[in-house]
Amino acid sequence: MTRLPIQIKLTDSKKEKPNPEKLIFGKSFTDHMFVADYEEGKGWHSHRIVPYAPITLDPAALVFHYGQTVFEGLKAYRSADGTVRLFRPEENMKRMNVSLDRLCMPRFDEEAALHALTQLIQIEKDWIPTLEGTSLYIRPFIIANEAFLGVAPAKKYQFMIILSPVGSYYKEGIHPIRILVENEFVRAVKGGTGGAKTAGNYASGLKAQEVADQQGYSQVLWLDGVERKYVEEVGSMNIFFKIDGEIVTPAINGSILEGITRKSILQLLRHWNIPVAERQIAMDEIREAYEEGKLEEVFGTGTAAVISPVGELNWGGYKMIINNGETGPVANRLFNTLTNIQNGKEDDPFDWVM
Ligand code: PMP
Repeated sequence: MTRLPIQIKLTDSKKEKPNPEKLIFGKSFTDHMFVADYEEGKGWHSHRIVPYAPITLDPAALVFHYGQTVFEGLKAYRSADGTVRLFRPEENMKRMNVSLDRLCMPRFDEEAALHALTQLIQIEKDWIPTLEGTSLYIRPFIIANEAFLGVAPAKKYQFMIILSPVGSYYKEGIHPIRILVENEFVRAVKGGTGGAKTAGNYASGLKAQEVADQQGYSQVLWLDGVERKYVEEVGSMNIFFKIDGEIVTPAINGSILEGITRKSILQLLRHWNIPVAERQIAMDEIREAYEEGKLEEVFGTGTAAVISPVGELNWGGYKMIINNGETGPVANRLFNTLTNIQNGKEDDPFDWVM
């Protein structure tokens, strides 16, 4: 494809940057954003980088009513030598198009999206915090902005990329979380939108998260939407179990989001010759493994925390304490390897970093 030029309008009033020691996730945004528009018949056009500012939408914009919207999430890291590093950004753009297809929204050329992203980051590179574990969170998203109340795919869309400096997920070192297995609410069903990164999946998850919060759990473990029997994923992470020496994770089945961290971990484990399996996993099997002393590790994986060890799983009042509530060796090794590759402290044998 011929790459459309990006018009650049720089701000004349730069914001004060937040204190890198006190960054709160998703609270502060950089000086500029990328924007492109879509109209049926015309395609994507008017690619531009402009000062970060509120946007105006018609109250009838389709996104407000029927939720036609898709997003992505990835990070830019600054290594010790000052270079800016992105972890597998092409995978995010590929997934964005999978999500767009599912929501009947127009695809955005992956190369053009990457170009937009790198141009924007180039302009905003001083916003990438440098403290250990900090990064610049990148949020590309598309909304249906046609003013129309009919339930139908919109004919007009806007694509935007915004950037937010974020602090270290683990200020006091990697530590395990407590998880509540959700037996009532479900996140997604096969044939639904669970495999897409779209707002509705997150809105529908809030109720269960609220209940978990009240009980002192930091995330919920979603089960399948039909029988509440099989493991799906955790909050905004995929989930892995180490059972009797083998690492297992639910197979991609249409209702789970295919995480880029998940994909990378499977590749690393296979590279290390550690036995792995992608398959259906029943909660009964997890409980049985626990009772036989074979549930060795549990961890979530995702862009935010990279690896989140699970110290406790509560399934309807039955509490499983995993690895004495401590981070296991596989989770530790994966965390160190992935974060070192992301930060440029370790070789990148798979060419993941851009
Ligand atoms: N599942 C869900 C529902 C998520 O929102 C995320 C975060 N994008 C993940 C899994 C993990 O995906 P990734 O490794 O690409 O961040």
